[in-house]
Amino acid sequence: MASQGESIESLTRLKETFRKLPGIGPRNAERLAFHILREPRDFAAALAQALIDVKDKVLHCKVCFNLTETDPCSICSNANRDQGEVWVVEQPKDLLVLEATGLIRGTYHVLMGHISPLEGVEPEDLTVSALVDRVKSGTVREVVLALNPTVDGDGTALHLQDVLSQLGVQVTRPARGLAVGSQLEYATTGMLEAAIRGKANM
Ligand SMILES: [Zn+2]
Repeated sequence: MASQGESIESLTRLKETFRKLPGIGPRNAERLAFHILREPRDFAAALAQALIDVKDKVLHCKVCFNLTETDPCSICSNANRDQGEVWVVEQPKDLLVLEATGLIRGTYHVLMGHISPLEGVEPEDLTVSALVDRVKSGTVREVVLALNPTVDGDGTALHLQDVLSQLGVQVTRPARGLAVGSQLEYATTGMLEAAIRGKANM
């Protein structure tokens, strides 16, 4: 006879897996697990397939490091985009924020983070050398440093300006419409538009 405290192994395993996700505590993990249990099997199958697909199909564009299922990504391979203008962002989610404004005619370069002496992140840990190679290839006319207006974002921008200006490319930054210490991803559309339209030389 099953005792009240009997553990159901597969349910426990699901709860423990959910707990490994960011922001999910034991109570939320339990709620999610019981939610899955109540849903039809099709839902669980679709969720499982979506998880596998994102791991198997999503990769980084070898030109700009954007997340994509085709390489190069749809932006890098789009002849209507200005390949001479490159907007440098910290993370793929920042690219999505800028792209959603519909104001960017150029392309992007995702650094995959920012330089941070405190966290031990050096330029070599980012995609800086790939950006330098892109500029050296001669197709890039202007690099816009759209980094977060934080201490590390500013430090990263200064480093990039230093490296890139030696290559004779124009280096600009979006206007300072964003509050110091804020993150690009939380900016309002109006703030972003003002910042994008007001970009200026560093
Ligand atoms: Zn790309």
